[in-house]
Amino acid sequence: TVITRFAPSPTGFLHIGGARTALFNWLFAKAHGGKMLLRIEDTDRARSTDAAIEAILDGLRWLELEWDGEPVYQFSRAPRHREAAEQLLAEGKAYRCYASPEELQAMREKARAEGGTPGYDGRWRDKDPALAPEGVAPAIRFKAPRDGETVIEDRVQGRVTFANKDLDDFVLLRSDGTPTYMLSVVVDDHDMGITHVVRGDDHLTNAARQTQLFEALGWKTPIYAHVPLIHGPDGAKLSKRHGALGVEAYREMGYLPVALRNYLVRLGWSHGDAEVISTDEMISWFNLEAIGRSPARFDFTKLESLNGHYLRAMPDAEIVSHLKALVPHLADGDALLARIGDDGWDKIERAMPGLKERAKTLIDLLESADYLFAKRPIEPDEKAAKLLEDGGRETLAELLPDLEAVDPWSVAGIEAGVRAFAERTDRKLGKVAQPLRAALTGRTTSPGIFDVLEVLGREEALGRIADQTR
Ligand code: GLU
Repeated sequence: TVITRFAPSPTGFLHIGGARTALFNWLFAKAHGGKMLLRIEDTDRARSTDAAIEAILDGLRWLELEWDGEPVYQFSRAPRHREAAEQLLAEGKAYRCYASPEELQAMREKARAEGGTPGYDGRWRDKDPALAPEGVAPAIRFKAPRDGETVIEDRVQGRVTFANKDLDDFVLLRSDGTPTYMLSVVVDDHDMGITHVVRGDDHLTNAARQTQLFEALGWKTPIYAHVPLIHGPDGAKLSKRHGALGVEAYREMGYLPVALRNYLVRLGWSHGDAEVISTDEMISWFNLEAIGRSPARFDFTKLESLNGHYLRAMPDAEIVSHLKALVPHLADGDALLARIGDDGWDKIERAMPGLKERAKTLIDLLESADYLFAKRPIEPDEKAAKLLEDGGRETLAELLPDLEAVDPWSVAGIEAGVRAFAERTDRKLGKVAQPLRAALTGRTTSPGIFDVLEVLGREEALGRIADQTR
């Protein structure tokens, strides 16, 4: 069976690259009827926070990427990590190193001056332990193989070969007894039964060291798949401006989880030309081999258009539930909730066909729904006010009796009435629709005007128009 894991460090929010890693692990597990486990790599005590853990769990839940079982907290497993280091020490596969920070610093400088890769020079590897300085707590270092190569058959990168002479004797336990990332990951991946490690290709060199460690411990190395990182639209490393944000930010921008999943899966993985891919399709099509070897570029326009697509395809009631879940997350959420009121959600749902026509995000929807909650008399914005002044009022005054006569108050009935009026008074339809829009919504753009009239209801609509003609 396949067991994957997502192993974020809780030093910040769940960023978009992490979300994609989680999605790939989740899909691969689902595609093979396996499991995706969650491991919180909270060993950096100074930088790990509970808030970050919450943000990660929340982000995964919002994206509907549920992990299997309880999350594993790496820090709590430190005793087990130490045990593995002690085992290696006992077997002569690790050794105590007493090099001082000054010595290590000098080693780095020397390597840099010689243009080599900075690394530990192995000075305690074969030294007689009797020479240990008194009162110095040693670090435990891995006795890495010196000759030959370490080969990774990576499912994305292909065969990657590292000369062992380039990989130094890395630390397993620091002199204060805390395990390093390199050790913890290997022990945890083994104990959690991880079969496949799918992660960013910034961990490729780590994979070589980890492979050496798996072998030294006599454990089976998992299969690796290192995915190229996400780049900005200009090809440079992803910056905040270009989308390197937390998943929470995408939620607040009004993206749907289903659209973000669809967008993320296409960032680096493809299935022919398919753009819109349902989650079921993703699960049945996903494979590691189709992940590209060059970095994918983040593109907000694509994400927006996918989101618009999913909005238009989604039942209105479901969109409303997404809106209800979103509003409390917004900075002005409380004010907005108060404005919408108890009966507002029904109004939004009734207005949805008109609202969603042009909307790309849930935020667009909320903005264009705002007319529903405006209180009479409406304050038109600058452009709308100008429109009303430049003949709009007169048009509306003339139109009002016609509208009063509309019966029944339906989109078709209203449309027929307004069209007949425009024809009779020799006006273009737009010349009637514009002041109507200004009077009803206070703006110069809105959903279809007949929809707006209908959704507001006869009394409110006629009231708003009359307010502007007085
Ligand atoms: N905690 C590491 C990170 O957030 C990931 C480690 C791994 O996937 O092996 O980059």
